[in-house]
Amino acid sequence: SYRKGGYHAVRVGDSFAAGRYIAQQKLGWGQFSTVWLAYDTQSSKYVALKIQKSAPQFAQAALHEIEILCAIADGDPSNEKSVVRLVDHFKHVGPNGQHLCMVLEFLGDSLLRLIKYNRYKGLQLDKVREICKCILTALDYLHEKLGIIHTDLKPENILLCNTINPSKDPIRSGMTPILERPEGNPNGGVSMSSIEKKLKQRARRAIARISERRASMGGVGVVPKPARCLDGIDLRCKVVDFGNACWADRPIAEEIQTRQYRAPEVILQSGYSFAADMWSFACTAFELATGEMMFAPKNGQGFSEDEDHLALMMELLGKMPRKIWDLKRIRRLKYGTLDRLLVDKYKFSDADARDFSGFLRPVFDFEPEKRPTAKQCLQHPWLNTVNQAHGELKSESSDEKVNVGMSNLQIKLRK
Ligand code: ADP
Ligand code: MG
Repeated sequence: SYRKGGYHAVRVGDSFAAGRYIAQQKLGWGQFSTVWLAYDTQSSKYVALKIQKSAPQFAQAALHEIEILCAIADGDPSNEKSVVRLVDHFKHVGPNGQHLCMVLEFLGDSLLRLIKYNRYKGLQLDKVREICKCILTALDYLHEKLGIIHTDLKPENILLCNTINPSKDPIRSGMTPILERPEGNPNGGVSMSSIEKKLKQRARRAIARISERRASMGGVGVVPKPARCLDGIDLRCKVVDFGNACWADRPIAEEIQTRQYRAPEVILQSGYSFAADMWSFACTAFELATGEMMFAPKNGQGFSEDEDHLALMMELLGKMPRKIWDLKRIRRLKYGTLDRLLVDKYKFSDADARDFSGFLRPVFDFEPEKRPTAKQCLQHPWLNTVNQAHGELKSESSDEKVNVGMSNLQIKLRK
């Protein structure tokens, strides 16, 4: 893909936008782009630089994404809606053509990474709750205020505001920004101005301070191994990747969403709107809590992937109303319920399973019009009343007095 019309090859130290941004290391990539950690010499901050493939259809898609990201930034001047912020955008000409580039606030690991890091065991429910609140805040903002459907919500497209491993976090680890290509930079590298030299010095001093602190803690400069423990990590996150987002009154594609997070109305091609994002949200919340995908359909003998997907949905959520469901080739279904699944397969306590499925189950309504909105989900007791008590009850003794004045929901957690 690194040819005409494709990705732009980036080397560490490459500069962009007349020297303002300097590539530090690759962060990730998608179908249409590569994403680099870059240093912004103007603001002295790290940013994420998303460099689009150059062919016209990719440029078109990037322009659309920029338009959406601008609307998102304009509607949320104080940047509190849990959606990634576009800082800047520009064109970059390279050997493979002209690439549209987006400069985004730098974020950390994706929720998919977080799930892997936690060894696919599922996160503690109070972590799941915090993450759900962020995602719902983002969805409520996108849906209600802007009229935007994300259309590709999934753990990979939700990034933490910090990285799980501090030694890999350029900010927390005090990494020195690279200001020029290591082995000389004949075309387009920046010469180091006195300001940049000062920045470098400042970063070196920060590193020195950190290793001093580590030494005083007995660690002698050794970076500790990640503990695979998320205690004390503030799990705030933001929704990213607006490459497929659209305005609800102007749907772009008939088939949207990544397979496992796809809503039934999308599979049945009966039209979609904001509620399709809510379905993906619920699939994501389930995956955070259990470590496994809610639905992982496969095609097989005599049935398609779509049919398997719908069958899996019905096994867990019950029969679809006849008016939206009319498939012939259906295998024999084994019906179950969401809270049984949580107890039997994922070893939730009865109370946890009942409360969590009480929150999620309404979102998994086959009829999109009946699904709660993001705003309605934000009001749900599972997100609001349980949270604090959960922590308290865990850390305190099982003294009955702890429960005085608490709701039934909170009391259930003690068992
Ligand atoms: P695509 O539309 O090509 O899928 P994404 O916007 O999803 O592109 O970005 C691809 C990957 O780059 C993400 O999965 C993530 O690993 C990384 N990434 C994207 N945006 C950021 C950001 N703001 N901060 C840090 N990493 C990012
Ligand atoms: Mg993506």
